[in-house]
Amino acid sequence: MSCGAMSGKGIGTMSGARIGATSCDPQAACWCAELPHGPAPAMSGKDMATTNAGCLCPVCLAHDLNATIDLLGKSAAELRALMAAFGEPAYRGTQLYKSIYANRRFDFAAMSDLPAALRERLAAATRIALPQVTRRYVSADGSVRYLLSLAAVPADRDASPARVETVFMPSEGRQTICISTQAGCAVDCKFCLTAQLGLIRNLTAGEIVGQILLALDDHRDALVPRTNVVLMGQGEPLLNYEPVMAAVRLMLDPNGMALAPRHVTLSTSGIVPGIERLSREKIRPKLAISLNASSDEQRDALMPINRKYPLKVLLEACREYEQGNREFITFEYVLLGGVNDTPEDARRVVRLLANLRAKVNLIPWNPIAPVRGVAKEVPVRGAAKEAEVPFRAPTPEAIEEFRRVLADKGQFAFVRYSRGQDIAAACGQLALIESPASAASLLPSIAVAVSPAPA
Ligand code: SAH
Ligand code: SF4
Repeated sequence: MSCGAMSGKGIGTMSGARIGATSCDPQAACWCAELPHGPAPAMSGKDMATTNAGCLCPVCLAHDLNATIDLLGKSAAELRALMAAFGEPAYRGTQLYKSIYANRRFDFAAMSDLPAALRERLAAATRIALPQVTRRYVSADGSVRYLLSLAAVPADRDASPARVETVFMPSEGRQTICISTQAGCAVDCKFCLTAQLGLIRNLTAGEIVGQILLALDDHRDALVPRTNVVLMGQGEPLLNYEPVMAAVRLMLDPNGMALAPRHVTLSTSGIVPGIERLSREKIRPKLAISLNASSDEQRDALMPINRKYPLKVLLEACREYEQGNREFITFEYVLLGGVNDTPEDARRVVRLLANLRAKVNLIPWNPIAPVRGVAKEVPVRGAAKEAEVPFRAPTPEAIEEFRRVLADKGQFAFVRYSRGQDIAAACGQLALIESPASAASLLPSIAVAVSPAPA
């Protein structure tokens, strides 16, 4: 199927949610600028509601499904093209863009800079589909974990309804929002609960930025000017590259969400082709790499992705990564008690990161359900016994000693304790847990809810 532009002045003809197109030029870019557009339709009749049979562009799909076009995730250029397709001046698209992303207006009636007639047409034919909040968990430390429902995506037949999580963390002088980029994750790190979900599906750009808009809107009366966003929720962002980068461009656009590039961090398990691609992007977030081990042997066991992109290859990609002035790559290191937390590990980390402008975030492991193969043996009720969980948190002494070894060798290192442990919102705990009980007492039920067949 080819991509084509609907040309001709009659494109704006609309009747309710039905949109007319006069012709389709298969050589030109489709107005929606993102999806293939089918062969030119045979147009007839006054209503001009005909669309291209089998075409996947949102106009045709919306018509086919008698649905509406989702504006969330569309760029300023796409919204301008959409307004032109409505027969409106393109600058209406710019106004719409600012309303959604800069002013966080999700109700057309509140977009008072648009003419009333256009607002009505928009309400009939389009929608701004923020994720639906299924549950909202509030931690004693003030963080909020949202369990979100995502609808099926009409334009993508692989995108069935799914659920993900977002965490809002207020602190002195800023709020940090941790967002998901995929539902579940295919990477299979042994210490991470999200891994147990497997990959459910990729998120769209709209679903990714929607999490931020929703969390900000929910806290609109208590926001401080600085917002940090970390792509550290469910999923591996570099395995969903295009939608993630489309979302990042929306976040960093000074005319839209206007987040500062240094306040948006993308964390990856080490997908080397994605890192190389990111390095060439003009607009990009800060990069964080989940290192989590001090040798290939250790990393192979903890993060199977290491067999594909071993440390030498990963760190070479980091050395090649175009770093701006004063830009650091962050290396996250989950400290697993008795596994990767010895002073010898710390010395190896220093050697691995030699010749890199790097800082290290040490994250004491957060408890999760027993992982594959072990989950079955865990009783359904009562807290899991430590011996049944394959990992344990590091001792405070081991954490401090590890940090000290790095610091003594001149390597910047910080200990990062995860927020929201009591609501299962901490790093690695995001796996759609629906109980208000504490993370620790949830362990057995997690095992029952998400444990797949033993490996
Ligand atoms: N998939 C990406 C981003 C999401 S995971 C990545 O792996 O980088 C975000 C961070 O949480 C990663 O640094 C990961 O190593 C860490 N993490 C996973 N499970 C954890 C756990 N149980 N305790 C502490 N950190 C964990
Ligand atoms: Fe996926 Fe990151 Fe968890 Fe690994 S740590 S399974 S990459 S979410």
